Amino acid sequence: MKWIIQALLFAIFILIACSSKQVSTSQVLTSDQDLELIVLGIAQDAGYPQANCKKDCCTTLWTDKSQRKMVSSLGIRDAKTNKAWLFDATPDFKDQLQLLTRTSGTQYDLEGIFLTHAHMGHYTGLMHLGREAMGADAVDVFTMPRMKDYLETNGPWSQLVSLGNIDLKDLGATREISLAEGRLRVRPFLVPHRDEFSETVGYRIETAHKTLLFIPDIDKWSKWDTDIAQLIAEVDLAFLDGTFYRNGEIWGRDMSQIPHPFIEESLSLLQTLSPEDKAKVHFIHLNHTNPLLNTESPEYLEFGSTGFELAVEGSIFSL
Ligand SMILES: [Zn+2]
Ligand SMILES: [Zn+2]
Ligand SMILES: [Zn+2]
Repeated sequence: MKWIIQALLFAIFILIACSSKQVSTSQVLTSDQDLELIVLGIAQDAGYPQANCKKDCCTTLWTDKSQRKMVSSLGIRDAKTNKAWLFDATPDFKDQLQLLTRTSGTQYDLEGIFLTHAHMGHYTGLMHLGREAMGADAVDVFTMPRMKDYLETNGPWSQLVSLGNIDLKDLGATREISLAEGRLRVRPFLVPHRDEFSETVGYRIETAHKTLLFIPDIDKWSKWDTDIAQLIAEVDLAFLDGTFYRNGEIWGRDMSQIPHPFIEESLSLLQTLSPEDKAKVHFIHLNHTNPLLNTESPEYLEFGSTGFELAVEGSIFSL
């Protein structure tokens, strides 16, 4: 009898030990204090200032470099595994990689890069992974199928593939990527854009606590079969295309050839959002002509009372 009681007590002990272990394991898996997002750049593909711009928007920036802005990009880093991921590889890649991976306390390794599309501000930073620069070893580069084919079949990008500097991962097949031991999930979705060389995607990035959107380039909200207002309601943070403030902003160019939702249009479309939902929206990918880049412009001062936000280079969000 005694041994039966002892066996029962032992079994109960094992059960309690196992269940408490499960609890602590799941706490680890859902504890995301270690994950953070950093905004690495907020400018349109060509940066701020833009090459050869002689207008007021850029004049002072050629001498006052402190006001310059890097090309739109987000980074996520995980203090638990010391790994980091980039969203888009821009012409400012080297400074952005430094900003992402070297903090005062920790050094992070670049684990992967998610690309949105084949316009100059979004993938040409890959050149820094090649033989002339980092000579990287099989960094994961996540792309949609057409973008993957473009990189594989066009130099100099094809050399990054043949030398094994990058390891292309097809997002068309897997759709959702799980990272950081399952604490971070990334899903691409197609958006309408000038797709000369590749598809264009935005990303939905999810942790146990936060969901965020990254849509740096889209032609017009009305050309998309998804309701952006509804989508904003579902997430915690939304980094959205804020390329141009209004029509006519680029003098002497037909802006219908380079469509984006004007910020004026987005503000109007999203004006009925609750104050909480408005505050989730951070406009990013601002063209050098966008008056919101100038903190002394009347548009900037007016924007301050709309309840929406501008993405700020270097800002950090706990995920
Ligand atoms: Zn762009
Ligand atoms: Zn300019
Ligand atoms: Zn683009």
